[in-house]
Amino acid sequence: MALDDRTLTALRDDATRELPRTAALRHALHRVPETGLDLPATQRLVLDALADLDLEVTTGRSLSSVTAVLRGARPGPTVLLRGDMDGLPVTEDTGEDFTSQHAGVMHACGHDLHVAGLVAAARLLAARRDEIAGSVVLMFQPGEEGHHGARLMIEEGVLDASGERAVAAYGVHVMSAGIPTGVVACRPGTFMAASDTVRVTVHGRGGHGSKPYLAADPVPVAAEVVLALQAMVTRQFDVFDPVVVTVGRIAAGTKDNVIPDDAHLDATVRTFSEATHAAVPERLARVVEHVAAAHGMTATVDYRRGYPVTVNHAPEVDRARRLTRQMMGEAGWVDARDPVPGAEDFSYVLQEVPGAFVFVGATPPGEDPAAAAYNHSPRARFADEALVTGPAVLAALALDRLAEG
Ligand SMILES: [Zn+2]
Repeated sequence: MALDDRTLTALRDDATRELPRTAALRHALHRVPETGLDLPATQRLVLDALADLDLEVTTGRSLSSVTAVLRGARPGPTVLLRGDMDGLPVTEDTGEDFTSQHAGVMHACGHDLHVAGLVAAARLLAARRDEIAGSVVLMFQPGEEGHHGARLMIEEGVLDASGERAVAAYGVHVMSAGIPTGVVACRPGTFMAASDTVRVTVHGRGGHGSKPYLAADPVPVAAEVVLALQAMVTRQFDVFDPVVVTVGRIAAGTKDNVIPDDAHLDATVRTFSEATHAAVPERLARVVEHVAAAHGMTATVDYRRGYPVTVNHAPEVDRARRLTRQMMGEAGWVDARDPVPGAEDFSYVLQEVPGAFVFVGATPPGEDPAAAAYNHSPRARFADEALVTGPAVLAALALDRLAEG
């Protein structure tokens, strides 16, 4: 049974009424950003914020996560809601009056809004406990920024925290630019890319720059590898299932007239399907090794998997679209045309459980979404007003899915 208009309007109004408290928590989190898997100050704030709600709270063993289970009045399935908790090694330059007090660390990706928003969603749900048949798992996750925190929480059992496997999972990401404040954007299928890292070493033999024929110069080979990888991208992969390879770092040598022993390349690889994600490492290694072999040299390829492709489940995106439009009006939802080449470790959750990951616009009021500073910028500012839409949508998704039984 789908949620009726009255319930949805009440959720939106309650989230609006909660906004001062939600924003205050967000500002407190923003002042003490932490990076990685160990976030003691952030975890403390989460535990304090949840203390007056009747929840079953546990904390992580290998990371400072918080898992809270909200039990409805009657038995039923389990739904999971997730908020990531970590900041970035960025020196804040926003001028906000709640600016970071931790030198060199900033909530530059808006995860402070994710934490505060998930607490607010918990309040909306706790106030409706009598109407809930089932459980909601609240997943407060450290280490999204490259530390695989979601995978670690899955290994520690978050998907089964209520005593049974969650039947659906939802998450929100706020955007400081690109989307108007409070507007939700999403698409079914691939929503975000997989992100891998490659380190290539071309092994040559050093010598005098005036006599390259007596050495084995790895520098022109490295240059050929850079171009050969771009030819690989366009000649070996489906243009409608794209691959991005960017060699962001190239390093060799010490001086103009000394041929170095080795040359190094670091690249990021983005893919948008599981099949292509699986195919890239072997083909990339083949190109690199054979270009080196053509010049009588060898190369080693250290290919490191990052996050998998984030794939939204179409029926869950339909649910999010329907609920958002009912609550916020037609203009409150945008169907994203293309996937985003960034990556996200909620992908691990969506590999195990059907669900949806949605973006919520948090462009500061009065700023042009097309011109505002983007996530990860030292100048990225996130509008507190996004803390109405985010929690209301999360709570609505949980209630609507649980009402299905
Ligand atoms: Zn983020």
